[in-house]
Amino acid sequence: MRVGVPKEAAANERRVALTPDIAGRLTKSGFDVTIERGAGTAAFFPDEAYTAAGATVSDRQTVLQSDIVLQVQAPLAAELPRYREGGALVAFFQPTADFLRQLAQRKLTAFSLVLLPRITRAQPMDVLSSQATVAGYKAVLLAASAAGRLLPMLVTAAGTLPAARVLVLGAGVAGLQAIATARRLGAIVFAFDVRPAVKEQVQSLGASFLEMAIEEHAETAGGYAKELSEETHRKELAFLAAAVKDADIVIATAAIPGKKAPVLITAAAVQGMKPGSVIVDLAAETGGNCELTEPGTEIVRNGVSILGPLNLASTLPLHASQMYAKNLSAFLGHIVQDGRLRLDFEDQIIRDTCVTHAGEVRKS
Ligand code: NAD
Repeated sequence: MRVGVPKEAAANERRVALTPDIAGRLTKSGFDVTIERGAGTAAFFPDEAYTAAGATVSDRQTVLQSDIVLQVQAPLAAELPRYREGGALVAFFQPTADFLRQLAQRKLTAFSLVLLPRITRAQPMDVLSSQATVAGYKAVLLAASAAGRLLPMLVTAAGTLPAARVLVLGAGVAGLQAIATARRLGAIVFAFDVRPAVKEQVQSLGASFLEMAIEEHAETAGGYAKELSEETHRKELAFLAAAVKDADIVIATAAIPGKKAPVLITAAAVQGMKPGSVIVDLAAETGGNCELTEPGTEIVRNGVSILGPLNLASTLPLHASQMYAKNLSAFLGHIVQDGRLRLDFEDQIIRDTCVTHAGEVRKS
C-alpha cells in the first residue's frame, strides 16, 4: 500500500505529516512511503533523511496519487482533482459541509483527526492533545518575550525582582502545559477552569487553583466543558475581572468543542490590568477568550499587549511534526489491516473520524 506525504500548501504551515524516523518505521512494516520533494524542509527534515530511512522522494503529482495521502492541513479544494479517485486521505481539519461535499465528489475516503474520540485506546493517535501541548508551551514563551519583565524572582546586587504572576484560563491540555512551562520559568502560577475535576491536576503542577462557586454542572460525560448559563457566565466575568488585575501574564486557552470560544476577559477587564502585562489568547482561532483579541496579530490597549496567535504548533515544527507523525502512524496502524483499509464503522475511532466514503458524506 502506497502512502504519500505532500508538502503542506498553506503559507503559515511548517509541519510535515511524517518525519523520516516514522517514514522508516512504516517502510519496515510493509508500507511503500513517498514524500514530496522538500515536504520536510521547513520542519528541518531534509529529503536525504527520508531516502536514508527507506522512503522515496518524488513530485507532487505522484504523491497525491498514493493510496493514502497523509497531511497536516486539509487539501486545497482546487487541488482535489489531482488526488486519486477512490483513494484515502488523513488530515487534521475542521470539516465544513461544502468541503465534505467536494471530498465525497472525488470519492475520497477522508478521515478528520479533529474528530478523534478522546478515549483511552485512541490516546496514541490524539493529535488534538499533541499539538495543544506544543501550543501551550509556546504561548508562555511568546508571553515571556512580550512582557517587559523577567519571570523568576531574582535577588541581585541591583535589587530584588519579584516573580511574575501568571494566570492560566482553561486547564485542558494546552493550559496544563502552559502552567508547567510558566513554573519552569519561575513564575507564580494561578489557574482557573469551570471543570472542578482539573483542580488536582493544576495543583500537582505547583499552581494555585482559583475557586469560584459554580452551581451548575459544567462538564459533559466525555470530560469536556459545557457552555455556561448566562447568569453563571456573568458571575465568571466579574470573578475573572478581579483575577486579571493581579496578573502580569494571562494565558487564555478556554474552549468548548464545536462552539465559539467563551469570552472570559472583557474590554473593561483589560482596562483594569497593569500596563506592561500581556495576554496570549490561544483561543484566537475560535474567536478568542478576550473581547479585544484580533486573531493573527498583536495589539496594545492601555499598555496591555494582547496576542492572538494562530497555528502556534506550526512555529515549533520539528517537535510538532514528530508528535503528529507518531500519532498518524498509530492511526494508520488502526485503519489499515493486511495492506487494506479496514472500514469497520462499528469501531468508534473509525466511525467518528471517517467523514466521507464511497461518494457519501458521513458527517453533517
Ligand atoms: P479544550 O481545548 O476543549 O478546552 C480547554 C479548557 O477550557 C478545558 O479544560 C475546559 O474545561 C476549559 N473551559 C471551557 N469553558 C470555560 C470557561 N467558560 N471558563 C474557564 N474554562 C473553560 O480541552 P482539551 O484540552 O481538548 O481537553 C478536554 C478534556 O479532554 C479534558 O478533560 C482532558 O483531560 C480530556 N482529554 C482526554 C483524553 C483521553 O482520555 N484520551 C485525551 C486528551 C484530553
